[in-house]
Order: sequence, then C-alpha cells, then structure tokens
Amino acid sequence: MRLVLDGGALAANWRALDGLSGRAAAGAAVKADGYGLGAREVVARLAAAGCRDFFVAHWAEAQALAGLVDPARIAVLHGIAPGEEAVALAAGAVPVLNSAQQIARWRAMGGGTCHVMIDTGMSRLGLDWRDDVAGHCAGLDIDLCLSHLASADEDSAQNGAQRLRFDQVRTGVTARRYSLANSAGISLGHGYHFDCTRPGLALYGGVPVAALADVIQPVMRIETRVLQVRKVQAGDSVGYGATFTASHEMRTATLSLGYADGFKRALSSLGGFVKDGIRLPLLGRVSMDLTCIDISAAPDLGEGDWISADLVLPQAEAATGISQYEWLTQIGRRFDRVWVD
Ligand SMILES: *Cc1c(COP(=O)(O)O)cnc(C)c1O
Repeated sequence: MRLVLDGGALAANWRALDGLSGRAAAGAAVKADGYGLGAREVVARLAAAGCRDFFVAHWAEAQALAGLVDPARIAVLHGIAPGEEAVALAAGAVPVLNSAQQIARWRAMGGGTCHVMIDTGMSRLGLDWRDDVAGHCAGLDIDLCLSHLASADEDSAQNGAQRLRFDQVRTGVTARRYSLANSAGISLGHGYHFDCTRPGLALYGGVPVAALADVIQPVMRIETRVLQVRKVQAGDSVGYGATFTASHEMRTATLSLGYADGFKRALSSLGGFVKDGIRLPLLGRVSMDLTCIDISAAPDLGEGDWISADLVLPQAEAATGISQYEWLTQIGRRFDRVWVD
C-alpha cells in the first residue's frame, strides 16, 4: 500500500492560502504528523515554498522536526505542562502559553520569547478574553498573540464576535505579531488575517468551505494492490455479515486495504476504487486489512496490480459524516509514503 503525495499540490495550496491571506504571512499547522501525511516531508516542502511558521501540538512533534527549520519558528500549541520544562528548553521551540499557570511556569523557567493564546469564545484553550489578559501578559516577550475560531467553516455570527474580542484584547497585549485565522478563517476576509494565518486542513487538500473549492488541490491518494481475483457466483455473499449478495456472476478483487489503515468501515457499500478512469464499486463491508470490489468493468485487472481509492476528502466527508480532519489524521502507519513533485 502506498500514499502517493503530491508535493507540487502541497506547495501550490500553501502559496494560494498565503496569497489569500493578503498582507499576512501564511504559516502551517503540521501537528499530528502533518495531518497524517508525514510532518518532516511536509515541513521541508513548505519551507522550500516560503513558509516560515509551523504549529505543532506536542513537544515531541517539535523535536521530530529537528534540523529542518529554525526551532524559534516552531510553535507548540499545548504549551508547557508540569514536568515538560526540560524537554521544552532542549527542543528550543516556542511554547504557546494557554493559562496563567503556564505563564507562571514559563517565567519560573527563565522565560524568553513565547506565544500566548487567547480564548475568544471557543472555551477550549487560552486566557479568557474577559480576564485581565494584559495583566497576565505584562512583561512577557510575546512573538505571536493568537486566538482560534470555533466556527470559521460556517456562516456564523460567532466569527465576527470572536474577531471583535480579539481586537479588544490586542489593544492590551503587546506582541510582535497577531494571528487568528485557520484554513476556513482565511476565506473570511482581510479583517481576519492580522499578521499570520495558520492553515492546516486546506494545505493537505481538505476543503473546509466552498469558497476554497476552486483554490485547493488534492494532495493525497491511496493506492493498493489486488491480492486476489475471484469469480463470485449468483447467490454468493461477500465479506463479514454477508451484507452483499451477488445477483449474477461477477469478477471481484480483494484489496490489501482496510479500516486499520484508516479506510473507514463507514465506506462499506459506499466507497469505490478507480482503474484507468473506470470506477469499481466496493462490495459489502470493509474489513480490518481487506476490502472487496467489483471489477467486472475492468477485465484486465489482475493479481498484484495497483489500484487507486476513489477518495476525495470533501466527498468522503459528505458520504460518511466523518470529517476531512479525521480522514487525514487517521491514515494508518502501514503505507509507504511516496512523494511526487
Ligand atoms: C489545528 C489548528 C489550526 C489549523 O486549523 P485548520 O482548520 O486545519 O486549518 C490553526 N490553529 C490552531 C490553534 C490549531 O489548533
């Protein structure tokens, strides 16, 4: 099995999002191993395209990028938990401080340049915008002052409300740069861009809002091989639970790919594969490591041949209710990652 990753599309997506960010510079969210595609390869390619700011969640994710980019441009979104002080100092990446306690911990460690997250209405991470944010931040050397939009992918009044709150907080917090927008937030317009934007999903080919549909190119393609070709007769059933029964004789192929690889069981009976432009539908349930398809329309397909999953992220989300974020980040570890540029 292989993930075919289009480095040209990744770079083009970043350039498009950077362009849409106006005067702001687009960074890149590369947490969760670059949304499942491989953080080191993603970061190397985005850095070559001109991207300067990278966002990870954990210190180990920052360390995994060692030697690729200046650690001062890697932001660790979860900040510093008790006991992480030494790891944080060794990594040299910059913590995003989320609470008064994290700020105190950073000061006790000797401080230095940091980022600060403000919660403007998501009630998840960051200093509450209603608190004395200016007081908490006084004396800190803040590079980025950030907040995160809860509903950027929807036409929601919450976006404007969060922007207004962020603007208010900004007046009391001195930082070198300010940042609010994720992928979807970029399409909300210049009022949301500030100095730095933080796209993730759209870099990797996800389309969070219709406005980005014509701008974003797919980056990832799943390919696998035919393990076995069979002749299924009328009345035979296929797979666990016998959810598909053949009404006539058909050629089927059993593929090396299953839900343990992130090819979700929710695709059972819905998904398909493509060979030379011909769509080959999935039969019955997706198993842990195997999937069966109808190859009657591709008579030349044989054992050992490669075939592509017909998996387009926004469509997969619409068909299964599983978000594009989950599709990407739950791609299994068993794939060979093959980058083409
Ligand atoms: C993950 C994340 C992003 C990227 O969001 P997308 O919706 O994937 O573009 C930006 N900012 C923060 C704080 C994040 O956690």
